[in-house]
Amino acid sequence: MELIDLRSDTLTQPTPAMRQAMANAEVGDDVFREDPTVAKLEQITASILGKESALFVPSGTMGNLICLLTHCQRGDEYIVGDRSHIFLNEVGGASALGGLHPHVIPNEKDGTLPLSQLEKAFRPEDIHFPSTRLICLENTHNFCSGATLTPSYMNKVSQIAQKHNTAVHLDGARLFSAAVALDVPVTDLTGPVDSVMISISKGLSAPVGSLISSTGDFINQARKYRKMLGGGMRQAGHMAASGIVALESMIEHLKSDHANAYSFAKGISLIPGIKIDLNTIKTNIVFFELNHPKLDDKNFLAKLESRNIKILSIDPGVFRAVTHSGVKDHMIAKAVEGIKEILK
Ligand SMILES: *Cc1c(COP(=O)(O)O)cnc(C)c1O
Repeated sequence: MELIDLRSDTLTQPTPAMRQAMANAEVGDDVFREDPTVAKLEQITASILGKESALFVPSGTMGNLICLLTHCQRGDEYIVGDRSHIFLNEVGGASALGGLHPHVIPNEKDGTLPLSQLEKAFRPEDIHFPSTRLICLENTHNFCSGATLTPSYMNKVSQIAQKHNTAVHLDGARLFSAAVALDVPVTDLTGPVDSVMISISKGLSAPVGSLISSTGDFINQARKYRKMLGGGMRQAGHMAASGIVALESMIEHLKSDHANAYSFAKGISLIPGIKIDLNTIKTNIVFFELNHPKLDDKNFLAKLESRNIKILSIDPGVFRAVTHSGVKDHMIAKAVEGIKEILK
């Protein structure tokens, strides 16, 4: 029985073209800045994102942390959503390693930070208060069911940030999903922010890595933080080569992941015992609730596994299914059918 693994788009395998490019990559020591393939990936990324410069980093978590460290000094405060990956899922690195203080405001269901609350979150100058240095946005928003932030919303946040002399960082682990779903140039989403992190290891299907992008000065400083955190890599061109293929060939593919996610969501929405708001499904992430009198979460997952279907448990009664290049069109109907049988 074939495996239908909907746990995460990080499970994607490199494409044959990626494997070939990785094997044949021209490489050097990137800490000496002598790896031409890393340099090329960084150049391509900066150009796609409309920024001056970019830096290849081992993970999205490190990329976000480096950006926070570069924007802020110890004791500074950054504004962040309560459902954001930075706040929930990065081990509190900004606090533990950077001495940064999160100012958490509740995310709306659509992934936004409400502008009225955002306005109130800035600290006035006062001897008792930390200094507000940064706002963090996330697009698409993982724990808001892959919601997309529009250019218009991001521009509003940018204007508020400028008024308060504060920078904006964008966690764009799935930024290309947002651009594709909104049908806007990705630069409409990066223009309003000072720094951005994108991942090549999720829907874009490369094996490892993320990039951060910003001004040349910012990236020079960020490069030093990357070294401090142990993220200076040597012949990293083998990995970067897969990233070049990812950016050149996998962005369009995200559309079919989105279509599959919607058809999965629609399919399970008709099953008694499943609660899902179809309006929230914009990209490749489907959150749904299980409300069944006899079946608990553990049993549900076990029954799925026995049918070779894997889904991620997020909170009690809450599950996440993510489509990606390893989930082929025909697997969607099979996954829906499996869930239907289990809940019968
Ligand atoms: C996956 C993810 C990250 C972290 O990326 P890793 O490469 O897993 O460290 C950051 N932000 C969001 C929104 C993510 O989904």
